[in-house]
Amino acid sequence: MFVYRRDPDALLGAGVAFTSAALDLGDGQSVAAREAAFGLVSSALGAPVAIVAQVHGTAVVRIDAPGTADGLIDLTGHRADALVATVPGVAVAVRVADCVPVCVAAADGSAVAAVHAGREGLLAGVIDAALAEMRRVSGADLRAWIGPHVCGGCYEVPDAMAREAADKLGVPVSRTRRDTLGIDLGGAARRQLEASGVAVTRVGGCTLEDTLLHSHRGGSSGRMAGIAWLG
Ligand SMILES: [Zn+2]
Repeated sequence: MFVYRRDPDALLGAGVAFTSAALDLGDGQSVAAREAAFGLVSSALGAPVAIVAQVHGTAVVRIDAPGTADGLIDLTGHRADALVATVPGVAVAVRVADCVPVCVAAADGSAVAAVHAGREGLLAGVIDAALAEMRRVSGADLRAWIGPHVCGGCYEVPDAMAREAADKLGVPVSRTRRDTLGIDLGGAARRQLEASGVAVTRVGGCTLEDTLLHSHRGGSSGRMAGIAWLG
């Protein structure tokens, strides 16, 4: 089964899901293979799935019209790291394999978002950018799900990078299992969401430790997705 965790009753009219390593949704494969993989996701959700070209930035793509075909909505001509959808009939997805996938839903089912939040994106403010766009289109309370990502006990980085990131992100430096310094990306994502008044649910484990998940650091070229949609 390629769905690692799904929450179809997340909120009134919205759903979120995180896929597993049983499916590769990344760009390190043929276009046809990627389309076939997204075809499976689209069939499972009953809606086409939109993706963008992720660049560790803060740009947000908003989708205000339902998809007109099944399968993949290829928006990779857009360099962005968050997608917001304001209509049913389209799912938004970000692709990850250690970075933090964050799904956001408005409590009244008026909008959803998918956010790609790695170290660079967290530092640049991609979560705040996505929340700002959600609040432009919805006055409702927001709720977020943090999906599987590399944990602070596995995400080892050079000491100076760990200290600088921790300082800027307002989280403690993490100590890895090798007794080196690391960054708790999920903790930083949670802190940013909660600071903005968003309730957070943590979903799933560590990509490097769980063999059901793709891990870039673990040597996988595959990508999973965090997906959000309006029903
Ligand atoms: Zn770990």
